[in-house]
Amino acid sequence: MAHSLPPLPYAATALEPHIDALTMTIHHGKHHNAYVTNLNAAIDKTPELANWTLGDLCRNIAQVPESVRGAVRNNGGGHWNHSLFWELMAPNAGGEPGGDVGAAITKTWGDFAKFRDAFKAAGTGRFGSGWAWLVAGRDGALTIESTPNQDNPLMEGKHAILGLDVWEHAYYLKYQNRRPDYIDAWWNVVNWAEVTKRYSAR
Ligand code: MN
Repeated sequence: MAHSLPPLPYAATALEPHIDALTMTIHHGKHHNAYVTNLNAAIDKTPELANWTLGDLCRNIAQVPESVRGAVRNNGGGHWNHSLFWELMAPNAGGEPGGDVGAAITKTWGDFAKFRDAFKAAGTGRFGSGWAWLVAGRDGALTIESTPNQDNPLMEGKHAILGLDVWEHAYYLKYQNRRPDYIDAWWNVVNWAEVTKRYSAR
């Protein structure tokens, strides 16, 4: 079962002006596509992984044969992270979440602005390349985490409900070295409906 690049769920221009179309086109069509291609190349060399889903590969990364574990970690992680990332953004989105997620955020951080500051700190504080995450425990408790490279919470058995790509390729064309500005703009495209769905499915 070859892994394949999912189509963007909206036009590359849809998140303008916050995330520009050229960045979206290259990020999805080149970067994400390369993770898929390289993951398939690793699986081709390892037939026993042919029937593992992408989730299986991340969740059980320690059981992946050592000869391809690094490649699967980087490229399977990259494929999983980006497939989720596109769904976590949408046009005409952003704002503050209501419902269970909004309540859980308020309970944990006091208010949405404090949560946003803490999440931004996780993103700006990640040295080099990686991701910031909002993770939900089975009991509904929320934590902010950060992973390097293309690692993700699923590799630690955790359920991410929101993730932010802070690799330079995610923002450099429009924001250059200004990662904090990219993060500020990104809140305008966060798809809280999808985050809420993932929170319910914890
Ligand atoms: Mn990326």
